[in-house]
Amino acid sequence: MANKGKPVIDRERCKGCLLCVRSCPTKVLGVDDEPNSWGYYPAKVVDLDKCIACGNCNTVCPDVAITVYKL
Ligand code: SF4
Ligand code: SF4
Repeated sequence: MANKGKPVIDRERCKGCLLCVRSCPTKVLGVDDEPNSWGYYPAKVVDLDKCIACGNCNTVCPDVAITVYKL
C-alpha cells in the first residue's frame, strides 16, 4: 500500500516562496487566499488525500515551515 502523509504548514513561518508547491509530485499544496500577519500568502494543503509522505516539501522549505506526519 502507498504511504500516506499529512503535511502541516506553519502559516506564520511561511514566506510564500512556494518552493514546496513546486516540489510536490502529487500536487497536494497550493497557495492560501489569506495573507499571514507578515503579509505573505502562505502555502496551504489543497488535496490532502494525495500526500504520499515523500518529504520533498519539508526538505525544500527554507524556513522550516512544514512538518510531514506519516499516517
Ligand atoms: S517552501 Fe516553506 S516558506 Fe516556501 S511557501 Fe512552502 S512552506 Fe512557505
Ligand atoms: S510530503 Fe510529498 S506528497 Fe506530501 S505534500 Fe509534501 S511533497 Fe507533497
